[in-house]
Amino acid sequence: MEEKSKWTGMPKNEKSKMMDTGMIQLLQNPENRFLYNPRTNTIHDRQCTRVDAFSAGEVEVSGELMPEYIRGKHFCPQCAQKAAVRNGIRNRYRYSQDQMALCMQFFCTAGAAAEDLIKLFIRNTGSIILISMDCMEIEFNGEKWRLVLTDGVLSLLHNNYTVHEDYSRSFVRGFHVQCRNVPFHMIARTICGYSFKFHEAEYKAAAEKVRSEKFRTILAITDNYAVCKRKSLLFDDCIFVDFGKKTQELAKEESNRWIHITKENEHKGYTVKNCRIPRWKRPDFEKLMHALKDQALTESLYDYPTICEEAVPQTI
Ligand SMILES: [Zn+2]
Repeated sequence: MEEKSKWTGMPKNEKSKMMDTGMIQLLQNPENRFLYNPRTNTIHDRQCTRVDAFSAGEVEVSGELMPEYIRGKHFCPQCAQKAAVRNGIRNRYRYSQDQMALCMQFFCTAGAAAEDLIKLFIRNTGSIILISMDCMEIEFNGEKWRLVLTDGVLSLLHNNYTVHEDYSRSFVRGFHVQCRNVPFHMIARTICGYSFKFHEAEYKAAAEKVRSEKFRTILAITDNYAVCKRKSLLFDDCIFVDFGKKTQELAKEESNRWIHITKENEHKGYTVKNCRIPRWKRPDFEKLMHALKDQALTESLYDYPTICEEAVPQTI
């Protein structure tokens, strides 16, 4: 086997023969992981064979490819995959050629295209942790993913988590299968497109539905008004809970002028009203009390039943 340079990974004799000494010096520093040639506006991985023809004076070197740095620049088609994978290795193995080779082997077997690797590890700051030759962990926007190769079949696993009452989330041990037997392109799309915010909205909608159904049931059995013992042949005295500061007060509407309010008390943001109504208007009054319940439902005034229970006397 021919001897390779431990810095560049290139055959030693050939490399020194072809490269200018400035370039050799540049590449001796493992922190110079990428080279940019402004003349061709192209970014190269340090191991690209095209680098051989460059002189130190014409290139810019960098250790990390940040999304803003690459804007408007091209990637060399020959080494783009390598550059993306190298940029993704952010742990203590970042300067290890062996780690680089193993990661490249994994992504090649997984059928990863340069475009997807660039999207994952350069345009976004995903990072690579090699777990084994069949398992690669990718950290992306705070999520942990595992790519698992089983007999050439690729699966994507996602970190387990529990959702709390306030819809926040904590990660727990282990991973669950997100998708199985999918091409790498789909995996990259899933990882880049994932947002817990989307799931959060789903959880919220489901919880809200349960809550509103429960509320509807409670509201149906809640008395939001009471009729006092009859003192007059013509009028009924009633007590009911109106919305007060919470929302528009139904009993104040023009069409309900036949309700004569005799007393008003504010109670926890609602208004408890004593009123006198003509006896023949009782059916209208009851309709209005139903409308109050409907409005409480529409406006999700979840404390309305409790207020009614506190403010409306059970027997008068
Ligand atoms: Zn290149």
